[in-house]
Amino acid sequence: MSKNIAIIGSGFLGLTLALRLAESGAKVTVYESAPEIGGLASAWQIGDVTWDKHYHVTLLSDSFTRKVVEEIGLGEEFEWVETKTGFYTDGKLVSMSNTLEFLKFPPLGFVSKFRLGGTIFYASKVKDWKALEKISVEDWLTKLSGKKTFEKMWKPLLKAKLGEAYKETSAAFIWATIQRMYAARNSGLKKEMFGYVRGGYAKVLKGFGEHLQEKGVDIRLNSRVEKIEKQNGKIKVFAAENAEKYRAEVKLNAMPNYSGVSVRSVNGVANSSEFDQVILTCPANVAAKIVPQLTEKEKAKLENVKYQGIVCASVLMKKSLSNFYVTNITDETPFTGIIEMSALVDKKEFGGNALVYLPKYVAPDDELFERTDAEIEEIFTAALEKMYPHFKREDIVEFKISRVRQVFPLPTLNYSENVPSVKTSLENIYIVNSAQITNGTLNVNETIQLAEKFISHELHK
Ligand SMILES: Cc1cc2nc3c(=O)[nH]c(=O)nc-3n(C[C@H](O)[C@H](O)[C@H](O)COP(=O)(O)OP(=O)(O)OC[C@H]3O[C@@H](n4cnc5c(N)ncnc54)[C@H](O)[C@@H]3O)c2cc1C
Repeated sequence: MSKNIAIIGSGFLGLTLALRLAESGAKVTVYESAPEIGGLASAWQIGDVTWDKHYHVTLLSDSFTRKVVEEIGLGEEFEWVETKTGFYTDGKLVSMSNTLEFLKFPPLGFVSKFRLGGTIFYASKVKDWKALEKISVEDWLTKLSGKKTFEKMWKPLLKAKLGEAYKETSAAFIWATIQRMYAARNSGLKKEMFGYVRGGYAKVLKGFGEHLQEKGVDIRLNSRVEKIEKQNGKIKVFAAENAEKYRAEVKLNAMPNYSGVSVRSVNGVANSSEFDQVILTCPANVAAKIVPQLTEKEKAKLENVKYQGIVCASVLMKKSLSNFYVTNITDETPFTGIIEMSALVDKKEFGGNALVYLPKYVAPDDELFERTDAEIEEIFTAALEKMYPHFKREDIVEFKISRVRQVFPLPTLNYSENVPSVKTSLENIYIVNSAQITNGTLNVNETIQLAEKFISHELHK
């Protein structure tokens, strides 16, 4: 008899697991608390445009992502583009897209530049990432690049992604970031091309949802799992009552809800179904809460994973800010980078407008989460006015803000030694999530790879 398996979460991890398990003949049910599939990669509507809620790009070397996109029949929809990178430093915007521009880069002297370039090259060659987990990223980069370059370049860039938590982060973080930058070259591909699927992740997710439905996967939306419990060898999944069957249509403004798990269900009653196996893909602390039968030690390990959150503005505007896909910022600004999606994606996708993301990575308890949309819009817009003389707030078509308290686990010192395991003490209950990425950065390719690894290592043992 085929196995009856529940998957908690319909991000790329949950969807890939569902695909592989359905292919192997299992009966699969996916529970998703949000009104739409896709998690962090889901889309929303901004003005008349439907695009990713958080900026997403695929690299040519992202073989796992490309394979899944091909399997769901959208491989031909990829566009590959060479993009430019900018740096906003000392109040000026400069291009840093090739070696010559790097050599001309104003804020650093020749020796500092040489050491900076040497650090990046060296990091791209290092293989023993475990050794780097024992060293703080600050110590490692200061040793390789010098104090001045650390303060001027590395520190602002680290703070952009990690905030003050950069002090607790290991050198493996910057190693993984540089490895991803170099991935295309290392895999023998000549160019570092950035790609997207025409229609964005909305299209990919619609294709994925339809593909899973054809394979008989039952996707339950608005279906927050509140408790998972073993009873007489079976596993009971209790979910909120207002579950809705997935229909392959793009629902807009769907927000993944990460505000923690409350035991309240919308209609006051929790629904339960029985399964042979359950795989959780939600954040580690959520898993600890919804599986009360885990041991105290397991729960402590899950709750110990420290996450970094994000407040990310999507700004649809009539004119471009620049021709850079990414603008790194080393000055103090209210956002920690600028991603101009329309420097990568054909503006036709955005009705001729520019689409710019202004991310601010923050700790999950940062006070920015409490600010209203209007306050954040004012702070961010005022900063854009200062940075780009040609920018006018009248050119904003729509400004929309996403807040997620748990985006990626912080790679703290000796992280891989404390990773929560996939197998739990409860037979047939598994936890697979981004907390188990030990030598990579958070991206869809890495996420899909986790799912594929789980299927081949754990389930087929
Ligand atoms: C700002 C930003 C930029 C990014 N840029 C890129 C990029 O350029 N390229 C790239 O490849 N990747 C990028 N990523 C990363 C990418 O989005 C993630 O790697 C991927 O989406 C993670 O998928 P996941 O399934 O592990 O997790 P999630 O997408 O977080 O999925 C988990 C799902 O579980 C659901 N859930 C949680 N609790 C429950 C519950 N109790 N019951 C039911 N459901 C529950 C959530 O609603 C969610 O849908 C970016 C992410 C962000 C935030």
